Amino acid sequence: MTSSQIRIEKVDKHYGAFHALKGIDLDIPKGGFVALVGPSGCGKSTLLRTIAGLEKITSGDMWIEDKLVNTLAPRHRDLAMVFQSYALYPHMNVRDNLTYALRLKGVSKAERAKRAEEVAAVIGLESLLDRFPRALSGGQRQRVAMGRAIIRSPKAFLFDEPLSNLDAALRVRMRKEIRALHDRIGATSVYVTHDQIEAMTMADHVVVMRAGVIEQQGAPLDLYERPANQFVAGFIGSPAMNFAPGVVAENGTSVRLLDAEIPIDLAMQPGRDVIVGLRPEHITVTDPQSKGAVPVTISAVEATGSSSYLFTDGDPELVLVTNGTSPLEAGETIGLSVEPDQVHLFDSQTQVALR
Ligand code: ATP
Repeated sequence: MTSSQIRIEKVDKHYGAFHALKGIDLDIPKGGFVALVGPSGCGKSTLLRTIAGLEKITSGDMWIEDKLVNTLAPRHRDLAMVFQSYALYPHMNVRDNLTYALRLKGVSKAERAKRAEEVAAVIGLESLLDRFPRALSGGQRQRVAMGRAIIRSPKAFLFDEPLSNLDAALRVRMRKEIRALHDRIGATSVYVTHDQIEAMTMADHVVVMRAGVIEQQGAPLDLYERPANQFVAGFIGSPAMNFAPGVVAENGTSVRLLDAEIPIDLAMQPGRDVIVGLRPEHITVTDPQSKGAVPVTISAVEATGSSSYLFTDGDPELVLVTNGTSPLEAGETIGLSVEPDQVHLFDSQTQVALR
């Protein structure tokens, strides 16, 4: 059994009358990489800041390596925050940026120089120790920001949207670098992002939050394949899952959806109102006359080269993704079909997943 590095039980946080965190339970194992993800204002930064000790929790308990830290000051928690790359000191070279925290602790100059060399080797910046931040690329600055955290050998790394200032290509490269670094040094990491792709690709445990509540947590692909409710289903996956109202047909094993009847892989009460969820990548194009196909008219086609997005007319609009360049054009009528086990169903009142 892996031991917990950070354990959070029934944590609440109020800012005056505002209830920012509601009954948060989270167990972060030693060596784990956990992503906190959710829309703006859901409380992910607040949760990270309570772990860091920068915000006091209102109630509940928090442990770091079996030590209760509810009221422990940030500097005694032995955690390192990694910010966006611009948080480097501009008037210090890379070596001094890396070792600043050690200097504050009174570590000798010789020891600091040794540690700087060691960490520079880990982050691949050995040849740049004398450079100033302004003479580094965005990716190199981000590595220095990581190095500054690594040099302190913290119990965990806390990342607050560290890549949000970088361009798209660099973000993709840095998320691989950060994950590789995490693995190489055997770190424990908590990573806040609003970008579900970043969360899915970097973390081994994803926590989806909304309005101060954890909606679901688990392995990235579990959340994708078995979302607990409509919110998680719509948040995880890109492009987002399509939703449309449906009614369970008389046979109980298919659903009426947009003038068609599509088979499902579970038995349900006939006549029940449901919300049908279809992932754009799970919909295939067929003959509109074929059994179980939903006839629709294409309203627009977007081609990216590697894939095509087909949008449908009607309410609600649906989107599907096909590989490569699609020969289909706006105005054509096609049939949509989905494997029964890829049809997601949600309760129309509670939005909870029905399987
Ligand atoms: P974002 O992605 O926009 O940074 P977030 O999920 O990180 O969002 P938080 O910064 O954790 O959100 O904020 C959660 C909620 O708590 C927001 O509604 C915010 O306005 C509120 N909040 C945060 N800090 C304070 C504060 N010091 N006083 C009052 N309300 C606050």
